[in-house]
Amino acid sequence: MPRILLVEDEPGLIMTLSDRLECEGYTVETATDGEAGFDRAVREAFDALILDVMLPRKNGFDVCRDLRQRKIETPILMLTARGQVTDKVVGLKLGADDYLTKPFEMMELLARLEALLRRAPAHVPPTGETFHFSTIQVDFRKAEVRRDGELVELSAREFTLLRYFIEHRGETISRDVLLDEVWGYNATPSTRTVDVHVAWLRHKLEPNPRHPQFILTVHGLGYKFSN
Ligand code: CA
Repeated sequence: MPRILLVEDEPGLIMTLSDRLECEGYTVETATDGEAGFDRAVREAFDALILDVMLPRKNGFDVCRDLRQRKIETPILMLTARGQVTDKVVGLKLGADDYLTKPFEMMELLARLEALLRRAPAHVPPTGETFHFSTIQVDFRKAEVRRDGELVELSAREFTLLRYFIEHRGETISRDVLLDEVWGYNATPSTRTVDVHVAWLRHKLEPNPRHPQFILTVHGLGYKFSN
C-alpha cells in the first residue's frame, strides 16, 4: 500500500484528497504547514509527497529545496496556483518531479501520482522500511529505534544521523560531509558537533560505547557504519 504525505493547509482539499486517495488504496498522512511537512518527510519514509506551494510557516518551494538538499529523494508532486507559470518552472528546478495546477481534476491527480510511483524505484533507498543490527531495530516509517525491544529515545538529529550512517553503511564519511548532509547547508555548527552526536548515538546504541562495533572512527578521515 503506497504511503503518501499530503502537505496542504486547506481543510476542504485535505478531506477530499485523503478520502479519494484512501479509496484508491493509498495510506494518507497529512501535514498542514510546511515545517511539519518537512519534518515528517525527513523522519519518515513515504512513497510520494503531494506538496502545496502556498503553505503556512514554510512554503512548498522551500520544503522541496530543503528536502533535496538533505538527499531525501521521495517523489514530489507540487500543487501550484492557477496561472502561476513560473511556479512550475521554479518547482521543477528545485527538485519536484511533477506539478499540477489548482484547481485540478481528481483523475488527473491520480494519474500523475501513479506515474510518479512507477518511476519511484530509482528513488527508494536500499535500506527499506526497517533495518536491524545487533539487537537494534530501526523503523524508518515510525522513526523509532528499539534496543532489545525497548524504545530508545533519540533526538530528530540523532535519528537523521543514524539513518544517514545506515544508508551509507560501509562508506567512510567525513565530518564535513555529515555536517552538510545531516545538519544542512546553512548550518553553523562545527565538526565537533558531529563528534558529540556520534558519541551520544554510541552511548545509546553500542553494547560498549568505548569500543564501538558499529559506528567506527576512521582516524583522520571520519566515521564508518559497519554491521
Ligand atoms: Ca495552500
